[in-house]
Amino acid sequence: MKKKVFITGVLGQDGANMAEYLINNTDYDIFGMIRRSSNPNFINCKSFLKNSRFKLVYGDLSDSVSIDSLVQEIQPDYFINFGAQSFVGCSWEIPLQTFDTNATGVARCLEAIRKHRPTCRFYSAGSSEEFGDVTYTPQDISHPIRPRSPYGASKAAARHIVKVYRESYNLYAVHGILFNHEGTKRGEEFVTRKITKGVARIKKAIDNNKAFDAIELGNLDSKRDWSDSEDFIDGVWKILNQERPKDYVLSSNETHSIREFIELAFKAAGIQGAWHGKALSEEYSATTEYAIKHDLNSSVLVKINPKFYRPAEVDLLLGNSCPAREELGWSPKTSFENLVNKMVENDLLCS
Ligand code: NAP
Repeated sequence: MKKKVFITGVLGQDGANMAEYLINNTDYDIFGMIRRSSNPNFINCKSFLKNSRFKLVYGDLSDSVSIDSLVQEIQPDYFINFGAQSFVGCSWEIPLQTFDTNATGVARCLEAIRKHRPTCRFYSAGSSEEFGDVTYTPQDISHPIRPRSPYGASKAAARHIVKVYRESYNLYAVHGILFNHEGTKRGEEFVTRKITKGVARIKKAIDNNKAFDAIELGNLDSKRDWSDSEDFIDGVWKILNQERPKDYVLSSNETHSIREFIELAFKAAGIQGAWHGKALSEEYSATTEYAIKHDLNSSVLVKINPKFYRPAEVDLLLGNSCPAREELGWSPKTSFENLVNKMVENDLLCS
């Protein structure tokens, strides 16, 4: 009988990439869970939505009845939990909903598996935000858990409950600790996509001789370890298919600042810019040469808006994914520059 894979968060970046990966690389049946919404957005699923091996089902991580019934009915072989309140910035505004979805939601999934399908392999989507206030660099699986946001705390709690269920009930339950990963399906509120969408908007305005507003951002100096989500999906599938369950870190093993991301994104669109000013007055503007050549009315491309600063910032994240590379034979393929180029090219085409 064909294996069945149950994916939560299938409308999001990783869920959609995972469904696409499994359609292309296995003959398994895929069940993608979505929550009830008055206006669901299927844009990330357009390549597989009508595939006969893909089925949409309704459920919600905050609703144990739905999770329990779905596991009982479907009897999945794999349960990949990508559903989450995934935006760190928003987690201070909705901390309880964040915790309920990301931590208690994982306990709901594990309970349903324990009761109805204990042979099912479970993946929990952990995050480098669990490391938070880092004590050493690069961060590996042994780094202390020191989250700096309700989001990071919720993911840390999920990590503990996965371990408890694995050890108490002998479940194949793993928690992958993934550093930032982006791509053409990334949500528009996340800083990388906000930048690439903003660059495409500005480029279109310049090409049409129109005025444009600058992209407004918060802390430009936070450093992140960025990869391509599509590379990580392969790693997640490998984590799920080991002989014995074991948690891993997936990362690019490089760190770059938001400032560097901005520079590469404008370069990818052929816009030449330079930094001026300091602290809150800092701006990234088109160079005088570029502004004259393109007859720009306004040349400010990026400016700081303090409203995008976080109550507690994680300054530097840099992962160590050597164990995953050595033991799983996994490695990321897309470089940082190629990732930025790919996102900008996609947004230029869609704008
Ligand atoms: P995403 O694009 O924001 O997708 C999250 C999905 O979860 C959305 O489809 C959302 O549904 C769904 N969801 C939210 N609340 C839910 C609930 N109560 N019940 C069921 N589904 C719910 O996130 P992503 O980038 O794909 O990330 C996937 C997972 O990896 C998340 O757990 C995230 O926290 C984790 N992670 C991501 C990164 C990263 O850099 N991308 C890094 C580390 C960990 P709607 O479409 O209805 O909103």
